[in-house]
Amino acid sequence: MIEVVDFHKCYGQQVAASGISFDVQPGQVLGLIGPNGAGKTTTMRAIAGINPPSKGTLRVAEFDVQKQPLETKRRLAYIPDDPQLFTELTVAEHLAFVASAYNVSDAEKRIDSLLIQFDLRNKVNDRVGDLSRGMRQKLAICCGYIHDPQAILFDEPLTGLDPKGIRVLKESIHQRAQQGSAVVISSHLLAMVEDTVSHVLILDKGQQKFFGPVEEVKANFANGGVAVSLEEVFFQATAEVAAV
Ligand code: ATP
Repeated sequence: MIEVVDFHKCYGQQVAASGISFDVQPGQVLGLIGPNGAGKTTTMRAIAGINPPSKGTLRVAEFDVQKQPLETKRRLAYIPDDPQLFTELTVAEHLAFVASAYNVSDAEKRIDSLLIQFDLRNKVNDRVGDLSRGMRQKLAICCGYIHDPQAILFDEPLTGLDPKGIRVLKESIHQRAQQGSAVVISSHLLAMVEDTVSHVLILDKGQQKFFGPVEEVKANFANGGVAVSLEEVFFQATAEVAAV
């Protein structure tokens, strides 16, 4: 569903991604992890067609992100860590606008069910600019889900959500994956995403350190046969090798 082949991205002299290759199949949830500046957002923005690769191929539902941008965008949702919303619209107007942009036929029904799921029904007539940060995050998620995307990219989605919001989001990710979506989620809150992801991609300074099923990555970094947490995997995979 999502395919990245030999992705490179340079910003001038800065190499943000170098030779990254992975795929996410329907039903899989990929955890994109790595330290600050590892290249996580760069990779997601390239899949979303926001910034072009310096080299490499990216595909969504077998459509080339560069050559068939509309086909890929129709099937994709990208929920960034700082969603840019239309602050002057109400919550209802915002969702209706996004639904019409994606030509969603049963918009009213979908909007209603998303508002209930993400606990926003009592904010439906509020101006988006007057929402709290967590509420804006929930609205951005609803906007991402409204057209039933086949590929969903979340950049740091847990930040700002309350515990109930985190639970609802995680349940919704499971549900969407079960229905056949391919999901990518970047997060520094490893303990919180550990039970959500089926696969892991570890990046560090633009380099791919590991890609595979979460159980495989844990076995790979196991300590004397004892399974380790995703957090421990992170520290081992991104450890600086001391100079001698
Ligand atoms: P974080 O965990 O802090 O969000 P990240 O893994 O998402 O980090 P990126 O935002 O992809 O990291 O950045 C990767 C590298 O690319 C960093 O060195 C960053 O400074 C650089 N970079 C990102 N965007 C730009 C840009 N627009 N212009 C120049 N350099 C950039």
